Amino acid sequence: MIQQQRNKSDVILLPNLLDFTLEEMEEFISSLGKEKFRARQIMKWLHQSGSVSFEDMTTLSRDFRTKLSKISRVSRPQIEKIQESKDGTKKALLRLEDGLFIESVLIPGKNNWTICVSTQAGCAMDCKFCLTARQGFKRNLTPSEIVGQLITLKHETPEGPGINNIVMMGMGEPLANYDNTLKAIKILTGDFGLGISNRKITVSTCGLAPQIVQLGLDICINLAVSLNAPDDETRSKLMPINKKYPLEVLLDACKKYPMPGRRLLTFEYILIDGVNSSVQDARKLASLLKGQRCKLNLIIFNEYPGSPFKSPSPKTVEVFQQTLIDHHYTTMLRKSKGSDILAACGQLSGAVGS
Ligand code: SF4
Repeated sequence: MIQQQRNKSDVILLPNLLDFTLEEMEEFISSLGKEKFRARQIMKWLHQSGSVSFEDMTTLSRDFRTKLSKISRVSRPQIEKIQESKDGTKKALLRLEDGLFIESVLIPGKNNWTICVSTQAGCAMDCKFCLTARQGFKRNLTPSEIVGQLITLKHETPEGPGINNIVMMGMGEPLANYDNTLKAIKILTGDFGLGISNRKITVSTCGLAPQIVQLGLDICINLAVSLNAPDDETRSKLMPINKKYPLEVLLDACKKYPMPGRRLLTFEYILIDGVNSSVQDARKLASLLKGQRCKLNLIIFNEYPGSPFKSPSPKTVEVFQQTLIDHHYTTMLRKSKGSDILAACGQLSGAVGS
């Protein structure tokens, strides 16, 4: 259903058309007495052309455009600042309609770009290695704010046309904002708009087990689970969510998650010196993941000013990775990009001055 939104001053906002799925747009257009196919036309203007003005929508009559501008709005995050890392990674600080800031990161690949989008302003999960956690939770992002990060950067940066991978690993826990994340994925994959393949979208979670099972029932999408420890004691210290959904419950949910064809579920593991990166930890991890159809992404902890943890030495990392390879796990050492501009994993804060 099309819902009313209120801003900070409790003023009712006109519906934002970027929040709509195709079905909702059709319902909206029908309620105005217009033909259903107009919904698709509007979706194309919004998502493919990146239009923010009804004036641009020249396949609609002038009267209809005027009517739309009186009863609805088009709003998406605005670029406040873009910083570039030595390695080419770009971090965009984006301003939301209510004045809050979020961050999206553009990560260069060989021939294309990956965008890391945020799903919440702040985060309530309190993972101890994460800078976003320090600012606490502000609010969930709306579907238009999630999808809008991509549309804004696609249309307003030189890298835009090359963005064709999406990872939901920015600020926030996507599955704690379940309905809006799911709706955003449906909008991103719709053929009326950006038409992004579900193979090119990855949702990352800190381990909300019931929502993992539900996501597998609702949609077919790549899943990455932030694991970071081989036992409950260590994981609960690093990630408080583990007290609610301990490893047994989490890994059971992961086993139920349907990965189509030859695709594998990803476990992310941040290597922290003296905490979870010893050879014994690697052996425990290998035994813990027995029976999971998975691959492992190892990420070296990114230190940030005031961070309580340290990065492990290259030798420690090498031994950890080799131990998992010896146990026949596909194990990648993911080079974390953008750490000099605090754009790497766990370093996003939405701070205007960062
Ligand atoms: S790692 Fe992710 S889930 Fe954990 S606090 Fe940071 S943003 Fe939230």
